[in-house]
Amino acid sequence: MVVPYKHEPFTDFTIEENRKEMEAALKLVGGELGKEYPLIIGGERVMTEDKFVSENPGNRKQVVGYVSKATQDHAEKAHKIADETFETWRKWKPEHRANVLYRASAMIRRRKHEFSAYLVYEAGKPWKEADADTAEAIDFLEYYARQINRLKNGMPINSREIEDNQFNYIPLGVGVTISPWNFAFAIMAGTVAGPMVAGNTILLKPATTTPVVAYKFMEVLEEAGMPAGVVNYIPGSGAEIGDYLVDHPRTRFINFTGSRDVGVRIYERAAKVQKGQKWLKRVIAEMGGKDTIVVDKEADLELAAESIVSSAFGFSGQKCSACSRAVIHEDVYDQVLDRAVELTKELTVGATFNDNSNFMGPVNDQAAFDKVMKYVEIGKEEGRLMAGGEGDDSEGYFVKPTIFADIDPEARLMQEEIFGPVVAFTKAKDFDHALEIANNTDYGLTGAVISNNRARLEQAREDFHVGNLYFNRGCTGAIVGYQPFGGFNMSGTDSKAGGPDYLLHFLQPKTVTDQF
Ligand code: GLU
Repeated sequence: MVVPYKHEPFTDFTIEENRKEMEAALKLVGGELGKEYPLIIGGERVMTEDKFVSENPGNRKQVVGYVSKATQDHAEKAHKIADETFETWRKWKPEHRANVLYRASAMIRRRKHEFSAYLVYEAGKPWKEADADTAEAIDFLEYYARQINRLKNGMPINSREIEDNQFNYIPLGVGVTISPWNFAFAIMAGTVAGPMVAGNTILLKPATTTPVVAYKFMEVLEEAGMPAGVVNYIPGSGAEIGDYLVDHPRTRFINFTGSRDVGVRIYERAAKVQKGQKWLKRVIAEMGGKDTIVVDKEADLELAAESIVSSAFGFSGQKCSACSRAVIHEDVYDQVLDRAVELTKELTVGATFNDNSNFMGPVNDQAAFDKVMKYVEIGKEEGRLMAGGEGDDSEGYFVKPTIFADIDPEARLMQEEIFGPVVAFTKAKDFDHALEIANNTDYGLTGAVISNNRARLEQAREDFHVGNLYFNRGCTGAIVGYQPFGGFNMSGTDSKAGGPDYLLHFLQPKTVTDQF
């Protein structure tokens, strides 16, 4: 019997030994940079001529890897193999499938810093953020392995005399996982491992800016005993294979994490029943956020400023959980704003692969940089620039942590997801007004309330409509199995990654009645 689930601890890099280990891992991975990576279809390596160039966003000249690009022919081949493999994989005992994940997780734990080093190079993460990403990947494997054991005997139902009724969960079929670059390891691994351990076979299309870490994960799964064809690695562009995989009549579900635009597109396309299709596809989508921290007038104002700053600027604000709106009671507005500006001005920005002293690394790529800088210009029109507002993309894609004050709740900065280090402050006349502003977006992912007044916290519990609500802390950093994560409205399909019911999205219940 495995021990009960407990989340993976984070590494303290102020401890000399840990720092040295991470430096050694960075050196090791530094020696692996620039390699070529094939597709993996049914366990076979397929090297293509045309490749993605995965570069370090903190140092554009540094190539992390050249990664093969799947065409529709590759996607079709992978689909066929996944379909065939489903017939054997679905019959594996759930506990045996779980063992593959336990073994994979143990292997990753032993090589933890190596994986974090890939995230530092490929996603530009500061060490601490990379370490948390790797820890979360481990957590997803451990947690979902235990969850399938909980579901493997179905649920109790009633039987009359002379009959035996059973209610069990069976897998769906071939699923497509389309994963994001911001949690290039954790979310990629979690959105593969969940449906996989439930008995489905997977076509993995990782984010095009972070495909190398996904390849390293594939190697681990194989070494951990995953049969060939259960997960197939097919990086490719959305235009070439994304739509193709979504539209495919043999695709049974799509497990997507990414932008709202792409999520909506997938949802619409998946709804169309294709020729030869025998089911209605399921779409599990985890999309954007426009997340608010509300500060009450009775509150620890230092905690409020710290929570806003860390939630807004951790990993350069590139989390769908990031705080991009601070709604502050007018009585304490100036105090919280001034303190947040002070804290923000202390933050350093720069490359992270050679310097762990920088709080913030780069943003993802040129498109991300341009988008964030465009919103900085919009912010200058819509409010008062208090900190940051500058970018430099000469070596890497660096944007200073940016605060705008006095933004109207209806303004673009308050409504549109930026996915970068920009936070907008607005004043509320009372707590009801603050909640009203907080709920006034299309999204509903995370939110936080900083207050010492219990009645107002309880009011927020009822009325603040977000999937992940936090009291007296920041609004990022959900932990698998502790804070199941996912949002309402345009944030997604209301599913909860790392939650006790997550695997049900990839299972269908079957009732069998045996009459004697
Ligand atoms: N689960 C992460 C958090 O709680 C955010 C995931 C995301 O940004 O996609 O901060």
